[in-house]
Amino acid sequence: MKQTLTLVCKLKPTPEQAPQIEAMLQAFADGCNFANESVNPKVTNKVTIQAQTYGQLRSRFGLSANQAVRVCARVAANRKTAKLKGKSVKTFKPTSADYDARIFAFREKDWSVSLTLLGHREQIELDVGKYQSGKLKGRKPTSATLCKHRDGQFYIHIQVSDETPQPIKSNHVIGVDFGRRDIAVTSDGKKWDGKPIEKVRDKFSKTRALLLAKVSKGTRTTRRRVRKILKRLSGRERCYQAWLNHNISKRIIETAKSQSAMVAIENLTGIRDRTNQQPRNKTERRRSNSWAFYQLRTFVEYKGLKEGIGVVAVNPAYTSRTCHVCNHLGLRSEKRFKCGNCGWHGDADVNGAINISKLGAAFVSLPGGSNLSFSLNRDDSGLLKAPPF
Ligand SMILES: [Zn+2]
Repeated sequence: MKQTLTLVCKLKPTPEQAPQIEAMLQAFADGCNFANESVNPKVTNKVTIQAQTYGQLRSRFGLSANQAVRVCARVAANRKTAKLKGKSVKTFKPTSADYDARIFAFREKDWSVSLTLLGHREQIELDVGKYQSGKLKGRKPTSATLCKHRDGQFYIHIQVSDETPQPIKSNHVIGVDFGRRDIAVTSDGKKWDGKPIEKVRDKFSKTRALLLAKVSKGTRTTRRRVRKILKRLSGRERCYQAWLNHNISKRIIETAKSQSAMVAIENLTGIRDRTNQQPRNKTERRRSNSWAFYQLRTFVEYKGLKEGIGVVAVNPAYTSRTCHVCNHLGLRSEKRFKCGNCGWHGDADVNGAINISKLGAAFVSLPGGSNLSFSLNRDDSGLLKAPPF
């Protein structure tokens, strides 16, 4: 099984190289916009897009053969993602360009990358930290994305693939319920209380609201200052959340490993719609719609894959409303669950987690049930949108 890791490295272009990178990003975006506008919006196949635009991409935008191919692949990928969401692709911004092995190479001896820009190739120095250099050592990565981040600096997101251990198959499945009140609850009763992080998040969100109120009345200078503070706030909030998610997911996978168990989680897709069906106040809505929950799930999948722990995603319908003892629908109120049929009552999230674990175990024991959900959800539409972790 393969697992891809994306390493974000800062580039240190010379004063001459910087405008050339800028021009490359612009040409890539222009090419994408051109292909997107000139090919029937229903087409999501990159080969079809390429057949209709390749010649013009090369002559009009000065793209090399492989750059033109990457443009078509990008448009196709974005169209596919948009289609899943029932949307259409609008415009491409000059903030990222994709690279493959023909137009990109990493050189370890001087920690640099060579990139084909418009019409020529450039060797650009990398600014790598300990983490990145450890992961890049001895590797020959074959794909990358050239990016301009919001800080105005250029980065290269290098994809490194690793062979991962064959996941164990086991009938012992630990179910994890990503709760509303607790961040996560497992079927064996482990809990990660959501209160501390909620406090932090609510504090941030209150400060944000206060600051935004100021903006509407403030002068230009105030607005600029507020924007800066907001940016810093969101960065700190994300860091804290990522650290927390990292720890929770690590503990879950470690537990599974020590018990030779698999892990079952709720299926990601449609989670927003499902939790949103219940009437809730604004604060709660903000919590469950946040990227934080999405990140935690992704971390669990990712770490599971790395450690050879199978992670099954099960359909979450009814997992919170069914009694795990007798399978009848019960009553859930806040943190408590009560079954009118067999009389079981207890922690609602633990009940949910046990149901998830049972569904996972049932799935594994099915013939052909080894077809597990290992796909890591990566947004291939533009890495800038991904949360910084
Ligand atoms: Zn019952």
